[in-house]
Amino acid sequence: MQIVWFRKDLRIHDNPALTQACQKGPVTAVYFVTPAQWQQHDVAPIQIDFIEKSLNQLAHSLSSLGIELVVQTVDLFADVPKALAILCKTLNASSVLANSEVEVDEINRDIRVQQKVQSLGIDFKLFQADCILNPGQVLTQQGTMFKVFTPFKINWLRQVQGVNLTPYCKPDIQPTVQQKRITVAKITINLLKKDSSAWVASEKAAQAHLVEFLDLHVESYHIHRDFPAKPATSMLSPYLALGLITSKQCLDALLHRYPDALENAKNGPSTWVNELVWREFYRHIMVLNPHLGKGSNYNQLGNHIAWQNNPKLFNAWCEGKTGYPLVDAAMQQLLQTGWMHNRLRMVCASFLTKHLLIDWRWGETFFKQHLIDGDLASNNGGWQWAASTGCDAQPYFRIFNPIIQSQKFDPNGQFISIYNQALAHLSDKQIHFPVNPVVEHKLARLTALDVFSVLKRG
Ligand SMILES: Cc1cc2nc3c(=O)[nH]c(=O)nc-3n(C[C@H](O)[C@H](O)[C@H](O)COP(=O)(O)OP(=O)(O)OC[C@H]3O[C@@H](n4cnc5c(N)ncnc54)[C@H](O)[C@@H]3O)c2cc1C
Repeated sequence: MQIVWFRKDLRIHDNPALTQACQKGPVTAVYFVTPAQWQQHDVAPIQIDFIEKSLNQLAHSLSSLGIELVVQTVDLFADVPKALAILCKTLNASSVLANSEVEVDEINRDIRVQQKVQSLGIDFKLFQADCILNPGQVLTQQGTMFKVFTPFKINWLRQVQGVNLTPYCKPDIQPTVQQKRITVAKITINLLKKDSSAWVASEKAAQAHLVEFLDLHVESYHIHRDFPAKPATSMLSPYLALGLITSKQCLDALLHRYPDALENAKNGPSTWVNELVWREFYRHIMVLNPHLGKGSNYNQLGNHIAWQNNPKLFNAWCEGKTGYPLVDAAMQQLLQTGWMHNRLRMVCASFLTKHLLIDWRWGETFFKQHLIDGDLASNNGGWQWAASTGCDAQPYFRIFNPIIQSQKFDPNGQFISIYNQALAHLSDKQIHFPVNPVVEHKLARLTALDVFSVLKRG
């Protein structure tokens, strides 16, 4: 018997651990709910709901292959080795297979699990499916991780040409299916949840999202992607974060339609590849700099930033009450839907760190607590980019003007009006300006330039 341990890979397609296990013989699947660990990791109630719904779908998909999904609850990652060892004994398993993850606690958990199960004479095998190219594979000539995105991307694009991008197929039905009918009981996670049903939690829905995006939006992605009122981006991030779809599946589908998309051109398909590469960049950085997962600044000079961390200002930002219409509408989008447009994530993160001088870690945590697509590597990368402390980050002296951002990317105030009806009557000209702002832009900018000048030494 093989055990396939599911984590952030809640799919049966393009799942190397599952495919390999099914080739070896009978399989049982397991998933561990880890409430205390999730709390430590600030997993959002909406993401927990999405996990629950995805697990229910996965259980059905697996049962159609003759595989039972066992869901167990243990408090922490530290409790997993023992629980898995017990399951191995009960099922008389000869191996445990899983797909690797990029975060430091997850990597350390897997090391402990490996030690435990191997001490029982059971094989433990990890497969890399979370990135298109393995973390540690895209390096400078000196064998180090790139510190700048563009050369990373050039190297990545060169290497990916030689890679077989065909996703793994759905595994064959297990031979035992004839003998054993699998009953699928409803899976309930008894933790605080927030309704995630705006995103249908299934692999099929993820694929449908991808097809719709490729049919309707990818051609003009480079033109419209920064406008939050337009449905111009794929909105695949919740699916990618929990592994209902892989970035390899995305790239493969894109290249079937646009074989030249790897050519680094200024068109929609190539620009979308660029975003998938940003995802890879942050994951590679996270694996090679595990301390980032524990709140470290990538740029150590960031340790000298004198954050003011005013709780009143932080609360105003969290509640979407800064007085800046675009920032406040964006925060409402997050609070109401559990998702936020990329341009707005950049604007809100910049506003928190530079206008309000609040530590990026506060914002990183708040985002995790509310995002359906909360993902340590991308979130940390995005926050440290905005705070100018990250790898190839926004230069410290670039401070988004929230009024100009609004005029440029929400010119008619269409997005603002969705989340703040009280402003909807204002003219296209008026709607961008702050009403009782918590800080005044020009003054905040000058203060930020001074506070962030500690990064100049770099
Ligand atoms: C402060 C901040 C926090 C962020 N937190 C997260 C997070 O927790 N989870 C998350 O998935 N993304 C995060 N991002 C990245 C980005 O905002 C989202 O991935 C994107 O908005 C998702 O929308 P989409 O699926 O329509 O993306 P598309 O534009 O369709 O892009 C396709 C995919 O590429 C990846 N991608 C796109 N932009 C980025 C980027 N800048 N960095 C890394 N990957 C990217 C995502 O997986 C995305 O789904 C953050 C960005 C910032 C600035």
